[in-house]
Amino acid sequence: MRRQELRIPGPLGQRRRGRWRLAVQRAWVPIGRFLVDALPRAIDIVLALLVLLLTSPLLLLRVVASLLQVRRPFEFDVLLGRYRSPIHRLRFAGRGPLRGLAVWFSVLKGDLAIVGPRPLTPTEAAAVPMSDAVRFLVRPGLVSPFRVRSKVGIAHVEETALDRDFVYQQSVRGDLGLAARSLVGDLLGGGGGELEAPPMLNFFGIPILNTTMAETVDWLMDVSAPGAPVQQVAFVNPDCLNIAWGHTEYRAALLAAERVLPDGIGIHIGCRMQGVALRENVNGTDLFPLLCAAAAEQGRSLYLLGARPGIAQAAAENMQRRYSGLRIAGTRDGYFAPAEARDVVEAINASGADILLVAFGVPRQDLWLQEHRDALRPAVRMGVGGLFDFYSGRIPRAPVWMREIGLEWAYRLLQEPGRMWRRYLIGNPLFLYRVWRQGLNPERFELPPGAGTADTTPGAAT
Ligand code: UDP
Repeated sequence: MRRQELRIPGPLGQRRRGRWRLAVQRAWVPIGRFLVDALPRAIDIVLALLVLLLTSPLLLLRVVASLLQVRRPFEFDVLLGRYRSPIHRLRFAGRGPLRGLAVWFSVLKGDLAIVGPRPLTPTEAAAVPMSDAVRFLVRPGLVSPFRVRSKVGIAHVEETALDRDFVYQQSVRGDLGLAARSLVGDLLGGGGGELEAPPMLNFFGIPILNTTMAETVDWLMDVSAPGAPVQQVAFVNPDCLNIAWGHTEYRAALLAAERVLPDGIGIHIGCRMQGVALRENVNGTDLFPLLCAAAAEQGRSLYLLGARPGIAQAAAENMQRRYSGLRIAGTRDGYFAPAEARDVVEAINASGADILLVAFGVPRQDLWLQEHRDALRPAVRMGVGGLFDFYSGRIPRAPVWMREIGLEWAYRLLQEPGRMWRRYLIGNPLFLYRVWRQGLNPERFELPPGAGTADTTPGAAT
């Protein structure tokens, strides 16, 4: 009888024995929640204690210095933390170094986490729309996803969007990864906020515009109106600059381009060696989706020329699926005989495209654009390297965490070691050596007259 009774389904269709399991499962939910919440906090406490312990002699000196200067050890900013509650971000009072070390007491106290969205001032917090209010569900942190990307110049997505993704996807592993990437970013020279960011960078006498992704997209929209004067654009990384070092025609093509833009972590490190700050890494691969979005909105059409047969077309179809209304005036592969160049130019002109993207690799694409400069009609022309291979899906791009620590080049090296080893393993150190030599002999590498005057304020088409 008893045995039978146990088999009678309960009101929700479970057997009695199942109820016990359900009860245990129910009890587990708050325990699980507690652990999910408590584990990151426990890690924060342990790491904060560790930092404070390891730096204790310095802390002591710093406290004494603050007390001698202003008779109190700490100062603080009042910011808004988790659930918008007021928190204190501590720093040592007075002047001098290591003031920021006191922030680890705020972590220990629980006002701040090590990883989390940037803490906001009450005014900043008031401006956060309801749709982004999820950022207040977690403790603000010393290291935010936006900050990690800013350090290597790839913060091309809005901070609020990155914070939202962070809150929804937060995990202990993710937090530790972000903290580690932040450390790597610091080792690479950080965001360079304290350094001057000149309007024009100078690598080996080639002027590179020190600008941002957003400004570049705005500028491209401004200057691609039908009938506007020609704008030739090149993206340069250390490999391009190494080629330009000894290749007279390529160097001339870069000097003739209306804009040369900084591509990659190598330029960022080169800037650090020169004691200047790179505003952003404005590379073609990250620019392309932003350009497509803006072109779709403003009715500009693109022509994609280059890569293996079918690749430009596949990239075009992918982007049209992502950005409805995007007009692709035409596509064509990059494997045609020199005798066919005239037909290719005619096809581009007949398509009525506003912006031409040429992906033949460096230096071929830039030389080709220079050779056909007068015959081509699109107002804007850009050399974009292996871009279509990525957006067609032929070659996968490095994961975001690798890009955040400036290792996209290492991923490319692993993908095609036979072709890339010379470019990266020899090219990267060679580039840094040449930057160092330029520092010894700056007068040998002066920029041509007139360079360095481009106006990069939004809407100022040069
Ligand atoms: N390519 C081309 N025609 C050629 C040689 C190369 O269209 O005659 C294409 C090639 O298929 C690839 C791109 O040019 O899509 C060059 O890629 P790479 O990775 O070398 O570009 P980079 O590293 O210079 O950006």
